[in-house]
Amino acid sequence: MSVAVRFAPSPTGLLHVGNIRLALVNWLFARKEGGSFLLRMDDTDEERSRPEYAEGIERDLRWLGLHWDRFERESDRYPRYDEATEALKAAGRLYPCYETPEELNLKRASLVSQGRPPIYDRAALRLTDADRARLEREGRKPHWRFKLEHSPVDWTDLVRGPVHFEGTALSDPVLIREDGRPLYTLTSVVDDADFAITHVIRGEDHVANTAVQIQIFEAMGAAVPAFAHLPLLTDAGGQGLSKRLGSLSIASLREEEGIEPMALASLLAKLGTSDAIEPRLTLDELVAEFDMGKIARGTPKFDPEELARLNARILHLLPFDRVRNDLAALGLEGADEAFWEAVRPNLSRLSEARDWWAVTHAPVAPLVEDPDFAARAAALLPAEPWDLSTWGAWTGAVKAETGRKGKDLFLPLRRALTGRDHGPELKNLLPLLGRERALKRLAGETA
Ligand code: GLU
Repeated sequence: MSVAVRFAPSPTGLLHVGNIRLALVNWLFARKEGGSFLLRMDDTDEERSRPEYAEGIERDLRWLGLHWDRFERESDRYPRYDEATEALKAAGRLYPCYETPEELNLKRASLVSQGRPPIYDRAALRLTDADRARLEREGRKPHWRFKLEHSPVDWTDLVRGPVHFEGTALSDPVLIREDGRPLYTLTSVVDDADFAITHVIRGEDHVANTAVQIQIFEAMGAAVPAFAHLPLLTDAGGQGLSKRLGSLSIASLREEEGIEPMALASLLAKLGTSDAIEPRLTLDELVAEFDMGKIARGTPKFDPEELARLNARILHLLPFDRVRNDLAALGLEGADEAFWEAVRPNLSRLSEARDWWAVTHAPVAPLVEDPDFAARAAALLPAEPWDLSTWGAWTGAVKAETGRKGKDLFLPLRRALTGRDHGPELKNLLPLLGRERALKRLAGETA
């Protein structure tokens, strides 16, 4: 049996770090097991689903490198859900209910005030044919609940270990709305069965759904997949990350924070596991290191600062061929490997390469406080061609000639050559500047 997993977002908002972590874990598991990864849009909530959110989800997954082997959209499958619904009705597992939302709220409130769990009382099961006919004549339309077996539900969760629910502790779930539309609890099971999903990997907010859904798989005569429920990410203060937290959306991390895909993947693959978080340059490395058994039960904390630090470490390691196109997209078409090697250690986000491009390839107003010293240094500048040894040879000569050393030697040269106090190593920058520009800047000219 080959492994098949799915990531099943509802296109009702932007993906954030919490959602995409689940996509990543599913994808890593599929690749590790040589299985397949399905992207399923759970878009049956027609009021809240939007095509632009679905497009955004696809864009975010592609950006992270999580390509899918198969794509399905729940809104294409209504006829199949109708068929499954009819089969469950025929098997006596769906029953019509007529309570209004207000009536249900009252029932729940009354149970809660008595200190009892708000479990549906199955009043609708006691309706006679005559009662139902009367309610329908009054204009009421039924919603349909799944009749749970009042027996224990057990599974061995790949993250949580043995999980046990009593059927009596669960409410019969509504599977079909009053307007005839099927709800997630049903559609997800029909899809998981039809697409032969072997492992359902999702957030621990779905644990109680799983107990119910296992019974639905069984009622449909379908194989029950394995389950893994991951603890949800929280912020540094232990608060849940809501989907509406725009700043943690993947779009904003990418477009506003300048986060590299492998920085996010390196962090999210390891957060909440027994592995150390280290920069990784390819998803293949994360696949090789992935093991569901390493995922701990404690709540992982997502820290944007940690992501920013990892982003810098990733940039410092990325070879030129991995950033060539992105540099061109920033407008740095002429950027070459020497430029990249020179500036890479100073970047915390790729777009900062533009600042250093401006220093090496655009006019800069130099800072020259001691023109005599600058002129003596300029006179010692070697002839081109220049390479990585030029800086050492030149400053050695300047030191011998002027007696300056350390900061007194290097800082005035840096200020004259770059107009700044800090920056990439001058050994790397000097050949990028070239002799002509260096001479002008040492002479105090904007060049
Ligand atoms: N659409 C559901 C969600 O976003 C899918 C849950 C699941 O993986 O079954 O929560």
